Amino acid sequence: MEKIKTMSLVEKDQKNVWHHISPYVEEKPAMIAVKGEGAWLTDYDGNKYLDAMSGLWCVNIGYGREELAKAAYEQMKELCYMPMTQSHVPAIELAEKINEWLEGDYMIFYSNSGSDANEVAFKLIRQYHQQNGEPNRYKFISRHRAYHGNSMGALSATGQALRKYKYEPLASGFLHVSPPDSYRRPENMTVEEFNIMRAEELEQKIIWEQKETIAGIIMEPLITGGGVLIPHPVYMEKVQEICQKYGVLLIIDEVICGFGRTGKKFGHQHFQIKPDVVTMAKGLTSAYLPLSVTAVKKEIFEKFKGSEENLHFRHINTFGGNPSACAVALKNLEIMEKENLVAKSAESGEFLLQSLQPLAKTHPNVGDIRGIGMIIGMELVASKQTKKPVSPDFIGKIIQNCKQEGLIVGKNGDTVDGFNNILTLSPPLSCTKEDLELIVSVLKKVLAENQYIM
Ligand code: PMP
Repeated sequence: MEKIKTMSLVEKDQKNVWHHISPYVEEKPAMIAVKGEGAWLTDYDGNKYLDAMSGLWCVNIGYGREELAKAAYEQMKELCYMPMTQSHVPAIELAEKINEWLEGDYMIFYSNSGSDANEVAFKLIRQYHQQNGEPNRYKFISRHRAYHGNSMGALSATGQALRKYKYEPLASGFLHVSPPDSYRRPENMTVEEFNIMRAEELEQKIIWEQKETIAGIIMEPLITGGGVLIPHPVYMEKVQEICQKYGVLLIIDEVICGFGRTGKKFGHQHFQIKPDVVTMAKGLTSAYLPLSVTAVKKEIFEKFKGSEENLHFRHINTFGGNPSACAVALKNLEIMEKENLVAKSAESGEFLLQSLQPLAKTHPNVGDIRGIGMIIGMELVASKQTKKPVSPDFIGKIIQNCKQEGLIVGKNGDTVDGFNNILTLSPPLSCTKEDLELIVSVLKKVLAENQYIM
């Protein structure tokens, strides 16, 4: 395409489109994508990039699958809309399929986004406790560094100060504890001991806050966008024990970790736990259409049954459970099953981790490399002794240099000032061997060319 055409589109973009969570710098125009195929994106100038972030950790089966386009088209022709006050065939079939993947018995509540799904969880848990004779239970506990969404409740549960402080006051009743960031544990502790300590801190928080006021705990199976913080299994198992001990409901946010991303169908299946509520979005449709789910254990749903006017859950959204979105989700899961993408995610993730791991020894700024399935985090530090994070400029340069080499990588969210030092990878589960090799070779090259000077 001629350059002039690109320029005018860039100008129109800058004039009209307000981009999400990005600085506005005229000299640095946004990338304008025109095509996606497999793990690859093409921009308006014809440049190709391997998207090792799957968009926002979401295009699990890769770009450009015609089967999904067909599923949406066929469903739109047949029945384009039906509010979820009633029902329709794809919603029913998908709910059954999700329960099969969850290996559980949950009621499926449909919404549009991960934030919506978490908001639903908070509202229905507060109502559940009221209807279960414990109206004082209204508080939720989550972790610093976690992200749970952009709406007021989900943002209140989020533990990333930079994303919150300009929008305060947020919703009340949201508390935070420290996550098990094992890389930064005290020197005299094993990973297991440190994780037990973090779980005990959570129990302590419940006690200090008056245990009868705690409604629920929300956590991802691992903190993803907040820096790829993978717990020791003992942590998650203790959290579940604590929840049961104090009558607190456990919400597992699978918005990123669900649908094969971690090498299992759901991230929590790495642990011996059975959440009360599971929220999911992104990989559910591989982001071809918006759809999210709040899966709620049947015992909780029981408290909402009956004809009494005030018993039911007073929550509605227009688009949640859209028939075409459900049809696309069903096709997406069918493809994952047919192509064995969950097992492939575990295998490909292991390949990436093993191939990148030597950098932690050879590169002065690679402090830690950790991963599970197709989620990898690489913590960049100024010094391996002090573990002081590299500057945002340095990590920005690495990301920029990777892009110049045709590779899109990410970094952790806006935790607090100075803590944006973790490179992230979350490639499509469908990546080919060549894709994976390219990710490794570009990262090795770019890191070899860059060293942090204090
Ligand atoms: N939970 C987690 C763990 C997320 O990563 C995100 C989004 N990145 C959300 C919730 C919110 O999802 P959405 O952007 O679809 O509202």
